[in-house]
Amino acid sequence: MKNWSGFLQWSPVEIFYPSTENEIIDIVKKANEQGKKIRIIGSGHSFTPLSSTDDFLISLDKFAGVISINKDKNQAIVKAGTKLNVLNDLLFRDGLALENMGDIDVQSIAGAISTGTHGTGTAFGNISTQVIAIKFINGLGEVVECSLSNNVETFKAAQVSLGTLGILTELTIQCIPAYNLFLSVDKATLEDVLLEYQKLNENNRHFEFYWFPNTPYVMTKKVNVTTASPDTSSFKTYMQEHVLENYGFKLVCEIAHKFPSSTRKVSNFSASLIDKHVKTNHSHKVFSTPRIVRFNEMEYNVPVESYLEVKKELVNWINRHNYDVMFPIENRFVKGDDIYLSPAYKRDSAYIAVHVYNKKSFKKYFDALESIFKAHNGRPHWGKMHTQTAADLQSRYPMFEKFKAIRSTQDPNELFLSPYLESIFGNAVS
Ligand SMILES: Cc1cc2nc3c(=O)[nH]c(=O)nc-3n(C[C@H](O)[C@H](O)[C@H](O)COP(=O)(O)OP(=O)(O)OC[C@H]3O[C@@H](n4cnc5c(N)ncnc54)[C@H](O)[C@@H]3O)c2cc1C
Repeated sequence: MKNWSGFLQWSPVEIFYPSTENEIIDIVKKANEQGKKIRIIGSGHSFTPLSSTDDFLISLDKFAGVISINKDKNQAIVKAGTKLNVLNDLLFRDGLALENMGDIDVQSIAGAISTGTHGTGTAFGNISTQVIAIKFINGLGEVVECSLSNNVETFKAAQVSLGTLGILTELTIQCIPAYNLFLSVDKATLEDVLLEYQKLNENNRHFEFYWFPNTPYVMTKKVNVTTASPDTSSFKTYMQEHVLENYGFKLVCEIAHKFPSSTRKVSNFSASLIDKHVKTNHSHKVFSTPRIVRFNEMEYNVPVESYLEVKKELVNWINRHNYDVMFPIENRFVKGDDIYLSPAYKRDSAYIAVHVYNKKSFKKYFDALESIFKAHNGRPHWGKMHTQTAADLQSRYPMFEKFKAIRSTQDPNELFLSPYLESIFGNAVS
């Protein structure tokens, strides 16, 4: 098996595709009897070895779909293996939508919430904050139910749990009535955006920007609710999102990979292609875009108050080291929450994501930037590359010990701890 970027590879002794809750319980019993560990996989889009195992791997690809919709409350109960793109279509059919999303829509809903997947928008938390009740099978094969009002501490642990509390089976999602979004993409300078980003956050439902390293330019994305109908002609959008941002960018990555000395020229060329354009569509068709170019990624959450300083240090490092980097650096802004392992726990946050083409080495670049993030109390995205140890993480997550205690109660036999997760949550680790 491989993860999306191809960087991780592993061979489980057995892969299960259960389609009922009883089948999931039986797998847990079997693992306990045979002394096997269990890891769970969604769409395999994480860059960290969260699903790697030599033992049992469970995929909920056959445990998917909407179970029920409460139209009065705008809530949906969904099976945990449902992919976001399927979920969006099913919700839309019933006049509902997710209030916010990340860049892509191919993750499973359980996988997305388990790592704290997020989008952008200072009024919105990560996707886990949209979940209001969770049902899971714990390490003893018991069915556990928790919610905002019942078994609350377990719920706060289950909202972001890296698949270490149990196998999530059903999630209740607080949706909102379906809506359309208007996207406006523009070119600006990094200098101007760093002066104005707070205002841009205040004035737009969702604001993010990408800096093209070794150039003064950024691409800004502003997204707001509109009553306008979806665009009828999507040719320009197709050209921009599919052809330029994907096939064109892949070509550019290949050129820079084959001729490394051309990286700067190529990066400048990419920045020159930033094209002002707009798009109106149903919300889920605006949030996510295709990602054809494979890369490895590190993303850190920093307190929003530290964002400017972190960003300046990062830009200085790239400029000072004359570092050749092709991929634009993504900047997003998210509201704080109260989920124990959420990177945005108790702080409004900025996320900075750095990417490297998957055929290229990323170590020097990621190591250097990670030391900047760490110096500013950065918390890594759980699904993206980082080198933080249990001790680092413990000092950054005030509820880390609380999470570990709840985890141990739900999984006393450490069924869900692979060697990687043992190094983070194991009882031997303090
Ligand atoms: C191209 C690309 C774009 C991305 N864009 C964004 C973005 O915009 N914002 C962002 O925050 N992240 C983003 N990510 C990261 C991605 O959203 C997360 O890594 C997410 O966890 C992947 O979901 P998945 O379904 O692939 O889960 P996997 O990577 O397969 O698994 C993630 C975790 O969820 C656990 N899990 C899965 N299913 C269950 C279950 N039923 N019960 C218990 N645990 C379970 C797994 O064990 C694992 O710990 C992106 C990744 C890629 C490759």
